[in-house]
This record gives sequence, structure tokens and C-alpha cells, in this order.
Amino acid sequence: MNEMSGMNEMSGMSEPLAGFYGPYGGRYVPETLVPALDELTACWEQARTDPGFAAELDRLRRTFAGRPTPLYLAERLAPGRRLYLKREDLCHTGAHKINNAIGQALLATRMGKRRIVAETGAGQHGVAAATVCARFGLECVVYMGVEDMRRQRPNVDRMRLLGAEVRPVELGTRTLKEAISEAIRDWITNVEDTHYMIGSCVGPHPYPWIVRELQAVIGEEARAQILQAEGRLPEAVVACVGGGSNAIGLFAGFIGDPEVRLVGVEAAGAASLGTGRPSILHGTRSFVLADEDGQILDTHSVSAGLDYPGVGPEHAFLRDSGRVEYVPATDREALAAFQALAEREGIIPALEPAHAVARALELMEELVVVGLSGRGDKDLEAVLPR
Ligand SMILES: *Cc1c(COP(=O)(O)O)cnc(C)c1O
Repeated sequence: MNEMSGMNEMSGMSEPLAGFYGPYGGRYVPETLVPALDELTACWEQARTDPGFAAELDRLRRTFAGRPTPLYLAERLAPGRRLYLKREDLCHTGAHKINNAIGQALLATRMGKRRIVAETGAGQHGVAAATVCARFGLECVVYMGVEDMRRQRPNVDRMRLLGAEVRPVELGTRTLKEAISEAIRDWITNVEDTHYMIGSCVGPHPYPWIVRELQAVIGEEARAQILQAEGRLPEAVVACVGGGSNAIGLFAGFIGDPEVRLVGVEAAGAASLGTGRPSILHGTRSFVLADEDGQILDTHSVSAGLDYPGVGPEHAFLRDSGRVEYVPATDREALAAFQALAEREGIIPALEPAHAVARALELMEELVVVGLSGRGDKDLEAVLPR
């Protein structure tokens, strides 16, 4: 494997050369998965230039997922500034995860795979996967750490109502990292008839590329909407980063505009890009929270969706290139932003994007777009005093 091959183009929606973003990305997987990854790559390359695929994806985005989502000016949250929220919380199932799940369900169907395995942390990707499996008549198995099952009970109930099997993972920290490992293990065993529907821009090539392109609709819409509303581009664009899919999707609309400042916000207790090091996790090379021997460190965040010790490889590349700044926000800061948005705008956000809102409120820029990646119904348990 040639680790040092670069990307063909830095701007816009370039295709990663052999799955590498500078020294990051690639495929670090057992031999048995290589044919499945090749098949998925070929299917995606065909689908992305097929007008029939684009038309079906567009139809489902509009009529099933509720796109386009609005761009909302939060006048009371940030008086005197122009702070806009890209409202992915208004997507069907309550987060941006459905954008990716719809696209991957179409790909699985094209490949003739009728069984889906997925992992979930906060439960939002599990719910999105269970939802599209119901819609497409696919079998669905979702791996979830028992700690996350406890923290995100309503989403476990939703998945089961949608007909998915939720398999509890008791290993390690009992959160997203172990759930991904178990989903990959299942996929290795059942690769003939099973598609692994990964929930973020992580994992081996072609997943980071596919997930980015399926989420790029967020940034494409936001760019057109801000130009319509303000007649100019924003000075800054801010999004939270767990695996990095909502952020890369929003940034995709502005990455070719060097005058637009791009800010990714990590949970302080799971800041892979802030305090991690280059290493391999879940089939890809990226920044990872690990010690000097490569042992993965435990993470902590009040938001289950950001509680992951890795991050997508394209973010590692964008960090090194300096095109995107990555900064942390603490649990306390996220909770304060959560409360402020609820009380001043009548919007209860998920705890994940509350991290982005917290940092965005401190920026000096006047015209800012913030990715509001999901709604907060799932987080009431974590937020309410008891
Ligand atoms: C899953 C999730 C995230 C984190 O995942 P990314 O891939 O980093 O986007 C952020 N916000 C919400 C609402 C989520 O459900």
C-alpha cells in the first residue's frame, strides 16, 4: 500500500487518489474484506454518474427525508450578528444521518445485498439505518454499546419499533468504538449477503468518500441559501466533529472558497484532532486518541455521538493543511449552549451540535453558518436534573 499518495485536488468534491488524503485514509483491513470494498467502490463509481441514481436519491431526499432543510437566522441567540443555523434537526428521524443512510440503502439494493449491519453511538445512525431498512425491505442488525443503550434509551425503542435487531455490545467501554468493531466482525463473517452501512466518514476506502459525497448536500444547500439570504458568503462556517460527517458535508459547500473560515468543534474529552496522534483505527489511518504504544484511550463526552477516539481521515488532512481549524468545547460549554438555544430560539438541539453553537457564539465574525446536525429529544435524560 502506498501511504504517501496525495489527493488529486484540494478544492471541491475531489476524488481521493486510491483512497488516500495525503498520508491518511487507505484500507487497513483483513484480506476477506477487500473484494467487498472493491465491489462497493465499483458500485459507487457507477451510481454517482448515473442520472437514474441521482433522480432516485433526489426524490427520496425531498419526499422522504424532508430536504431541503431551512437555513434559520438565530436573531435572539446572537443579537447584533448574523448567525444562521443549518437545520438538519428537521430531517426525518431528527439528524443528518438519514442523508447517508438513504444513499447507502440505494447502493446495497444495487449490489443485491438484502442484509444490513450498522453500528450506533447516540442511536441516531441506528435509527436512520433501521428507518431506511424498513423503507427498502432490508434486514437490519444494529450493534450498540450497553452504556450507550442506557444513555439513549428512546432510540433503542425506536430501532426496535422499526423492525431492527439491536445487539448489545458488552466489551471495553461499551460505547461506539466497540460497536464498530463488532459490526465489522459481523460483516467479515457475512460479507456475501451483507452490506456494512457505516454511519460516518470513517473506516476503510471507499467509505469516507461515499459518506462525504452523500452529506455534501448539506453544504450545497447552505451555500445557495446564504447567498440567497445575504447576497454574500459567510465569514465562518462551524460544525461539530465526531467521526466528522456532518462537518465534512457542510464544509464541502465552502471548501473551495478560501475566504470562508472553517471551524470544526470536537468534544474536549474526545478531541482526536486536538490531542490525538496519527494511527490506525477501524481500517483507516487518521488521528486517534491513543498512547505511545498505540493503545486506544478511553474518551468521555456528555454527547454519545462525539464519544469516539477516531475521526475521518479527510479531517486529518484538512487539519494538517490548515484549511480547517479544529477546536474543543467542554461538556459544560455545550450544556450552556443547549440551554441558550432552547430558551432564546425555541429549538432544542442535540448535545453534539450544541458544542458547535458554543464556539460559534464566541467568534468575532459577523456572518456565520452553524451546522445544527440534530434535535435534542434523545438527550433529555442527560440534560435534565434528577
Ligand atoms: C452522530 C451525530 C454526530 C456526530 O457524527 P458526525 O459524523 O461527526 O457528524 C453529530 N450530531 C448528531 C446530531 C449526530 O447524530
